[in-house]
Amino acid sequence: MENIPTSETRVRFAPSPTGPLHIGGVRTALYNYLFARHTGGKMILRIEDTDKNRFVPGAEEYITASLEWAGIRFDEGIHAGGPFAPYRQSDRKEIYRHYAEELLARGQAYYAFDAPEELEQKRKEAEQEKRVFTYDASVRVHLKNSLALPEDEVQQLLKSGSPFVIRFKIPENETLVFQDIIRGEISVHTATLDDKVLFKSDGMPTYHLANVVDDHLMEITHVIRGEEWLPSLPLHVLLYSGFGWEMPLFAHLPLILKPEGTGKLSKRDGDRLGFPVFPIEWKDPFTGEISSGYREAGYFSEAMVNMLALLGWNPGTEQEIFSMDELFREFSLERVGKSGSRFDPAKARWFNHHYLVNCPTGELTQRFGKILAEKGIRRNPDYIERVVELVRERSDFVNDFWTQSHFFFETPSAWDLDTVRKKWKEETPGLLRAFRDVILEMGEFRAENIKAEAEAFARQQGAGLGQLMSPLRLCLVGATFGPDLALICEMLGREEVMARIDKALVYIAANTV
Ligand code: GLU
Repeated sequence: MENIPTSETRVRFAPSPTGPLHIGGVRTALYNYLFARHTGGKMILRIEDTDKNRFVPGAEEYITASLEWAGIRFDEGIHAGGPFAPYRQSDRKEIYRHYAEELLARGQAYYAFDAPEELEQKRKEAEQEKRVFTYDASVRVHLKNSLALPEDEVQQLLKSGSPFVIRFKIPENETLVFQDIIRGEISVHTATLDDKVLFKSDGMPTYHLANVVDDHLMEITHVIRGEEWLPSLPLHVLLYSGFGWEMPLFAHLPLILKPEGTGKLSKRDGDRLGFPVFPIEWKDPFTGEISSGYREAGYFSEAMVNMLALLGWNPGTEQEIFSMDELFREFSLERVGKSGSRFDPAKARWFNHHYLVNCPTGELTQRFGKILAEKGIRRNPDYIERVVELVRERSDFVNDFWTQSHFFFETPSAWDLDTVRKKWKEETPGLLRAFRDVILEMGEFRAENIKAEAEAFARQQGAGLGQLMSPLRLCLVGATFGPDLALICEMLGREEVMARIDKALVYIAANTV
C-alpha cells in the first residue's frame, strides 16, 4: 500500500541543467505533478546545478519552457518562490558545507587529500592486475585521508590549504534493507558501495549531498524520480541515517524503452525512426545542432501529456484518453509498473489525432491560417474553416492539413500521369470536356446540385459515375485523394473548376504521348 502521510505531501522535480529535457524527464515531472495534485500536496521545482563542468547554457530556460508548455505548474520553485527559497542549488552554496562538516563531526565522513593523479595511478595499477579500484572500506586506510593519517598531519594539511574532498564513510559489512513504493523491498550489501565524494575541492557539494540536504530542508515527503537514480539510493538512505533524519518515501519510475522494447529510449532512436524525444525544439549551444521537439512537430501538449501518463502508469481500465484533470483524480503510484514501457511512435500520433479531431475548429483554423500565411496564402477564415472541417479526420497534425488540402488554395502545377496511364480511357478527355459544358450551364453551383448533374450526365452518356468523377478529381486535385468531390467543386467555384479541367487536359495531352 502506498503510504501517504497525514501531513501535506511535498514532491519536487529536480533537474540538472546539463542539456535538453528528454521526454522521460517530462514524464518524471508529470508523475510528480499528478501525485501532488492527487494528494492535495505541493509541487516544487528545484534546479540542481552544482556540477559546473556539466552546465549547458540555455538548458535551465529550456527545461522551464518545456514544463510550461506541457502544462506542469509549480507551487514553489525557482520562479514561483516559496518558504524554502532559494530553489537553485548554486544560490544555496553556503548551506552544504555546514552539512558536510556535520557529517565529519558525526564520524560519518572524512577528509581525503588524494590528488586526482594519484587516484588515477591506483586505477591504472588495478586495471593491470585485472581488478577494479574503488575507494572503499578495503582501501581507505591505505590512502591519504583523515582516517589513515595522524590527526596532526590532517590539521597541517587543512591549515596549509591543501586541496581536499569530503567522502562519505560507508559502514562496513552491513546489509541495508529499504523500501521503494514501486519496486518493493530492496536490499544492498555495503561491500558493493564506494565512499562517494560529498563535497568537492572547488567548494561545491556533489549531487548526492546537495540532493539529500535539500530534500530534507524542503520537507520533501516523496522522492519520485527515474530508475537511473536507483543505484544512488543506498547512499541516500545512509546519508539520511547518518544525519539522523527521517527519510522521505521513494518511488523509482521504470525506464521508457526503445520502440523495439530493449534499452532506454534515446535521441538516436528518434533520429533513426523520425520522431522527437524532446518536448520542444533544442538547439545545442556548442554545435548548433537542432533536435526536433513535440511542439514544433505539431503535437498538442495535451496529447504528449496523455501519452506520457500512460507510459508507465496503468489506470486499471480500458480508458486511454485522459485530460489533466482526470489524471489528477485517477493517478496513483500503486499503478505504476516495475518494468519499462515501450515507446510507440504510432501511438503518439494516435493520441495527437484524437486531440486534433476534438480540438475546437476555431483554434485549428487559427493554427492553419498561420501556416498558410507563412506560405503567403491569405483566405477568409470561413473558407479555411470549411477546409479544416473537411481534412481534420484524415490528419494527425495541423501540419498535415496542407498536404491534405493544398489544392483548395492553389491550382496544381502537375497532374499524376501514372493514374492517367493506368485508369484513363480513350473517351475520358471528351467526357470531361462535355461535362465542363454542363458546369458552365448549370444553375446554382452547390454540392448537391453538382452531384445531381454529374449523375444525370453520366447516365445520359451511358457511363458509370466513377468514369467521370475519378478523372474529374484528378483534374481538380492533381492526384487521387481528397474529400467529397462535389464539395471540392463547390468550394473551388465554377470558374476555377472549369479552368482546372482545361489546364489538366492540356498538361496531360502534352505529357502522355
Ligand atoms: N538532479 C537529478 C537529475 O538531474 C535529480 C535526481 C533526483 O530526482 O534525485 O535528474
